[in-house]
Amino acid sequence: MLEFRKNNEYNEITMGQIKILDQNMVNMIAAGEVIERPASVVKELMENSLDAGATRITVAVEDGGRKLITVTDNGCGMDAEDLARAFESHTTSKITRYSDLYGISTLGFRGEALASIGSVAQVRAVSRIPDSAEANCIEIDCGNKGSISPCSADFGTTIEIRDIFYKLPARRKFLKSANTEMSHIIEQFTRIALGCYFAKEPCGTAILAVSSLHGLEDRATNDGTQTGPQARAAANRNLDLTLIHNNRELYRLSGKENLRRRVSELFPMLSREVYEDFLEAESDERGLHIFTLLGKPGVSKTSNKFQYIFLNGRFIRDKFISHAIKEAYRGLLEPDRFPVIFLFIQMPYEDYDVNVHPTKIEVRFYNANLIYSQVLAALREKLLSTQLDVQAKLPAAANLPVKDNAPPESHRSQNIADAIAEFLKIHGPVKTVQQYGPVTKRPFSAIYPGSKQVSEIAAASPEAGLGEEKFLQIHDSFIVAQTDDGFVIIDQHALHERIIYEHLHKRISTGKLESQRLLIPESFELTEGQTNVIDENAELFDKLGIELVPFGPRAVAIQAFPGLLANVAPVDFVQDLIDLLDRRDTGLDADRLLEEVLNMAACKAAIKAGQKLSDSEIKQLLIDREHIESASRCPHGRPTTIKFSISDLERQFKRT
Ligand code: ADP
Ligand code: MG
Repeated sequence: MLEFRKNNEYNEITMGQIKILDQNMVNMIAAGEVIERPASVVKELMENSLDAGATRITVAVEDGGRKLITVTDNGCGMDAEDLARAFESHTTSKITRYSDLYGISTLGFRGEALASIGSVAQVRAVSRIPDSAEANCIEIDCGNKGSISPCSADFGTTIEIRDIFYKLPARRKFLKSANTEMSHIIEQFTRIALGCYFAKEPCGTAILAVSSLHGLEDRATNDGTQTGPQARAAANRNLDLTLIHNNRELYRLSGKENLRRRVSELFPMLSREVYEDFLEAESDERGLHIFTLLGKPGVSKTSNKFQYIFLNGRFIRDKFISHAIKEAYRGLLEPDRFPVIFLFIQMPYEDYDVNVHPTKIEVRFYNANLIYSQVLAALREKLLSTQLDVQAKLPAAANLPVKDNAPPESHRSQNIADAIAEFLKIHGPVKTVQQYGPVTKRPFSAIYPGSKQVSEIAAASPEAGLGEEKFLQIHDSFIVAQTDDGFVIIDQHALHERIIYEHLHKRISTGKLESQRLLIPESFELTEGQTNVIDENAELFDKLGIELVPFGPRAVAIQAFPGLLANVAPVDFVQDLIDLLDRRDTGLDADRLLEEVLNMAACKAAIKAGQKLSDSEIKQLLIDREHIESASRCPHGRPTTIKFSISDLERQFKRT
């Protein structure tokens, strides 16, 4: 048997080489998992303050937390005995018996954080409980604990962490610049500052008792009532939070402010959107309460960094929930964009396990499907029932440039506004349609060839209710149409794509597309691989109403083609379809594949940019727009419509 490598030699092992690691070593190893960087310290200490029922937490850091982190709270504090115990490993007041593990209501419970922190830094902790005249203080230097001494301090707890990892050069070396470490701290602070919304509040002033996990003594509940952070009352947190860096106050958040206000303080770049472009969705079913503040598709980002999911106040990452969010925005966002969303889930603590990850950022739901479907339904319903046309952004009238040295961006917006006004002055009012009447005649062959179905959309509700409308087509690509409170600019291709997509979707979900026989079958050559693709997807071709028959050894002929796609060249379409099926992501399920195919079909069949439309065709587009779902986005998620309000224009022209 070989011993582990020592001085580059292998020695014969003698029995009894396994040692029990000393406690400090155990703590340092645990710290490796829990305390990665200063931000982890901030997270653990803030969570402890929350569990202690604090309503005020101040975090002050120096040099990105590399030099000093101080967290002060007005929570329930610790008495001398608890303060001494709190820094030993596996000591906690938050659980007492095994069954508690299956209903964790506090943020902490592992009893590891303070011991870990104490093993990798210089720590000074001061704490005072409500019925004590004085506070107590303890100092720990990388695991060497001093004795408790009395001192004077306010009620609550202050913990100072100096020179993190100073005895561990290998880990200290991995710390990044103060700015980078600070951005991690801000992120942790942000998560806590948001998580406290809709979270239940611990009882606050209850007296804590730290029990050792090894002994599982139950001092906290020996009078039969639940005290300490374990007992939580149902109420929203009212938490004042401050973050200070190098003596500069970065955030001062009042516990009284509502969620939108808090979001705007934490994310200044969203401060306008959060009031104008965010929706609220809520659902409450089978013990699962969901509240979301969700950005309209227009406020999307390039990463999912702005997706904040909280479970009973705890920030979590969960791939099922992220997937549900993505699904909810499907077709409303371009594939590489991510929505901004704050999602708060409340559910019984017994319905999930938080003991699956050292920092508890992941949890295991016992009924993940329920959460998935409820999140998806709540968001999707909200998004589909909301008018999502993009509102044109004009510069605030007060800042309108009057001098030449105005910023170029404002100049551009002003020029656009001027150009539109000028255009309307010269060309308008253009076409006036007295009330779109019932659409009884056949739709317009140029845009809806052979499509009986499309006219049904409009015919379903003939009193389209558009009132007196004025519109014109510009650059053969966009339609400008007057609305009750302004006007809209519509991308004719994008809108028509959405209309056709919805229509194809509706047809195919209740059967298959109606096909038309081609007078002369069109044939084309195939490779061996392409023949296989056709065989493997025979069902899909049938659903689409495409009939293919062999035509010689290496060719097929298209005999029938869907009527809805009558203005698409059949051979081009079928060849592209085969290509799409051939290179498709193998993980794609049948529904998603069908959706991609319909996307492609809609794109090919839709009127193009640069195509001149007759008045009646434009009218039909406008009517259909009123009757389809998600009309404000094309199937790829790009906007179809930009709204301009008359009040904005009046402000721009200084009429108000
Ligand atoms: P955990 O939070 O998992 O219980 P910690 O090591 O973070 O473990 O803390 C150990 C114990 O110290 C906690 O259970 C709690 O009783 C006590 N404690 C820690 N921080 C505070 C605080 N700010 N106020 C009151 N008690 C605290
Ligand atoms: Mg803790």
